[in-house]
Amino acid sequence: MTSIDDLPIRDDLRGLSPYGAPQKHVKIALNVNENTHPIPEAVARSIVEALAASILTVNRYPDREFTELRDSLARYLGHGLTRDNVWAANGSNEVLQQILQAFGGPGRSVLAFPPTYSMHSILAASTGTRWIAGERDEEFGISPETAVRWITDTAPDIVFFCSPNNPTGTPLSLETIRAAYDATDGVVVVDEAYAEFAPDGEPTALTLLDGRPRLIVSRTMSKAFAFAGARVGYMASDPAVADAMRLVRLPYHLSTLTQAAAIAALAHTREMLAMVDDIKAQRDRLLVELPKLGYIVHESWANFVLFGGVADPNAVFEALLEHDIIVRDLAIPNHLRVTAGTEAETSAFLQALGEITALGDIGSFGPLGRIDS
Ligand SMILES: *Cc1c(COP(=O)(O)O)cnc(C)c1O
Repeated sequence: MTSIDDLPIRDDLRGLSPYGAPQKHVKIALNVNENTHPIPEAVARSIVEALAASILTVNRYPDREFTELRDSLARYLGHGLTRDNVWAANGSNEVLQQILQAFGGPGRSVLAFPPTYSMHSILAASTGTRWIAGERDEEFGISPETAVRWITDTAPDIVFFCSPNNPTGTPLSLETIRAAYDATDGVVVVDEAYAEFAPDGEPTALTLLDGRPRLIVSRTMSKAFAFAGARVGYMASDPAVADAMRLVRLPYHLSTLTQAAAIAALAHTREMLAMVDDIKAQRDRLLVELPKLGYIVHESWANFVLFGGVADPNAVFEALLEHDIIVRDLAIPNHLRVTAGTEAETSAFLQALGEITALGDIGSFGPLGRIDS
């Protein structure tokens, strides 16, 4: 059988692994931070009507500039942004790839701070951009001083932040972003995939865009908007950055159907985001309940919780699978990550983890010790 190694593949891709979150058919999927609430039926109908109308035009190429979608996204983001400040693609992963294509590539580098979103390093590799792994402070934070020190020492062409960070949930201060921007001539990217799950009233990096043409804030409809399967991500920036994206994107990259679905969904923003408060409540419940089982939790502003004190993460992962529940093992020692699901899903997870923990050995060895049942 032929393997990749038998092919004349690029040397820098040899031996790499693809993105690999397992896609298993289980009843309760809490492994890839999806919004586990389906979109409301009435909104679904409205989206289908928009799709029905748009399919009659698919003999023609889509609007290459997706103007109406950019208008909708700008309206959603607010902060005085207009369509010229907005760019979109098939998921924010594609936006991030386009950023690396335009500002990274062979001979260039990107600085990031692991543990962070695994796609950041995979996209760096696929675009031939050298990956520089910075180090975080205590509790996964990044102080302005730490960011500036890494930027000064490594002179990257691109700095990637993730706020709040996946997989840790850690928020990032605007001071750190400001300091990083001032310390580099490169572009600074803030991946705000989970921004909608932050505490009410917390400012986002969107507030820093004015006067900072090298700052890019990337967002997605995959998480809060419950639109992961539709593949719509976007970014806000100076209009010149969007012009740079036009140099690397494939023509007509956003299909007529994708544009229609996203515009229709954004017309129902309030209903689409109605579950965000519920999800935040379930996340906060995880933050309270996991320590009672002896686990250590890390502050999270996202729709998931990273928890430590797991004696044998792989064994707990497998034991949860036997309960028809999947979580994420990111190979962070003694840690697992769980997405906040519906109330019923979160209850089922906590119940199953409690039973697994009570069996001893593989569960918690946290400060409260094991639960004796
Ligand atoms: C889930 C996630 C995304 C979303 O990617 P899409 O391609 O928009 O689905 C982006 N960034 C981070 C950090 C994520 O966790």
